[in-house]
Amino acid sequence: MADLANPEIARRFPDLHPAFAHQEAAVEANRCLYCFDAPCTVACPTHIDVPRFIRKLASENFRGSALTILDANLLGASCSRVCPVEVLCEGACVMHRYNRAPIEIGRLQRFALDVFHASGDTELPSLPSGARQLRVACVGSGPASLSCAGELARRGHKVTVFEARPLAGGLNTYGVAEYKLNAEAALREVEFIQSLGVEIRCNEEIDSARFTQFAAEYDAVFLGLGLGKMEQLGIPGEDLHGVVDALRFIAEYKTGERLSAPGRVVVVGAGNTAVDAASAARRLGANDVSMLYRRTVAEMSAFEFEYEHAKHEGVEFRWLAKPLRIAGQAGRVTGLECVRVDTGDEFTIPCEMVIPAIGQSRGRALLESAQGSLKIFAGGDLTNGGREVVDAVADGKRAALAIHAQFGETHA
Ligand code: SF4
Repeated sequence: MADLANPEIARRFPDLHPAFAHQEAAVEANRCLYCFDAPCTVACPTHIDVPRFIRKLASENFRGSALTILDANLLGASCSRVCPVEVLCEGACVMHRYNRAPIEIGRLQRFALDVFHASGDTELPSLPSGARQLRVACVGSGPASLSCAGELARRGHKVTVFEARPLAGGLNTYGVAEYKLNAEAALREVEFIQSLGVEIRCNEEIDSARFTQFAAEYDAVFLGLGLGKMEQLGIPGEDLHGVVDALRFIAEYKTGERLSAPGRVVVVGAGNTAVDAASAARRLGANDVSMLYRRTVAEMSAFEFEYEHAKHEGVEFRWLAKPLRIAGQAGRVTGLECVRVDTGDEFTIPCEMVIPAIGQSRGRALLESAQGSLKIFAGGDLTNGGREVVDAVADGKRAALAIHAQFGETHA
C-alpha cells in the first residue's frame, strides 16, 4: 500500500468524528433499543441491519458485528466515516422521538470495522457460487466499482478493476475531505476488496479503443467511472496560475502534493465539494476564505451540517453574487471580480487563489462505444449525477447481484 500518512496533514485535519474507545463504544451500544423494523436500517441505502450489529457489539462479539455490517455493505468502514448520518440512519433513530440524542451509529460502525480490519482475520464466510464463473471488468475503482467487484468475487466470479490513476479508491482516496476519511483508511479498504480475490490494475485508462476489445474478454462490464472533469467557470482569467478546481485541490492535499494554501482564497459554488475545499483551504493556512454563490443560502446544495462546519472553520459566505473575471498580474491570480445578481453592483475580492466548484460533467463516452453482446451495467456518480458514497456502494451491489443472477443460476 502506498504510504500516504503525512503527519503534517494529519495534524491539520483531525478526525471530525473521532473513533470510539472500547468503553465508550460499549456504553453507546447499550443505549440502543434494538427496535423491531428499525427505522435506521430502512434509512440506510445499503440497509445495514443496525440493531443487529449494535447488539453484537454490545455483547462484545466484534467479528459478528463487523460481518453483519459487511453482509450489507462491503465498504462499511468508509461509509461509517463519510455518510451524512444526520440525514440517514441517525436522522431516523427513534431516540429523536424521546428528545434524546440519536445513537451514534456511524461511530459504532467505524469501531466495529476498525477492530475487524485491524484483527488480521478479514476472511468472509463463503457464499454460494454461480453455475459458471463469469469474467467481469469494472471500469473505475471508486466505491461503486469496489462494491460491485467485491460482491461478485465473493460469489466466485473473476473480476478485474481498471483504474486510470496511480491509486485505487476513486473519490474515497482522492476526493473526500481529510477530516472525514484519509487516504490510508480508503486504501486499507481497497486492500480488503483485493483480499476477496479482486484484481485491481492501476495506471490503466480504458479508452474507447480498449473498451471495444472487452466484448472478447469479458462476459459483463460495470462502469463506475464517477463524474467527469469539473465544469469551468467560463470567464476570463481561468488559465491564470492560482486557479485550481476543487477536486484537484482536495486530491493534491490528500496525496501530500500540497501542504499549504495562500493567504486569501475564493471558492465559487456552494455544494458539499465546495464546502470541503473551503474548509480545507482554512486548515492549510489561508486566513481569508470566502465562498461565492449566485443564489441564496436556502438554495445551496451543501448539507446544513457541512455549512455549519464551514462557518465554524471561519469560512465567509457571499450570497447572490457571481464571478465576472479573474484578475491577475504576471500570470498569477490577484483577485476575483464579481457582480451582485440582485443589485448589479460590481466588486472585487482580492485573493491569490480561486477554486471553481460548480459541479462536474458526466463522462458517457464509453457507454456510446459499447459493442456486441457485452452486457453493460453502470452505477454510482456516473448514473446518479453525484450522490453519497453509500449510494454508490448500493448501486454496485445491485449491479453485482443482477450480473450474478442473469448469467447463471446459483448452485443449491
Ligand atoms: Fe437503535 Fe436508534 Fe436504530 Fe432503534 S432506531 S435500533 S434505537 S439505532
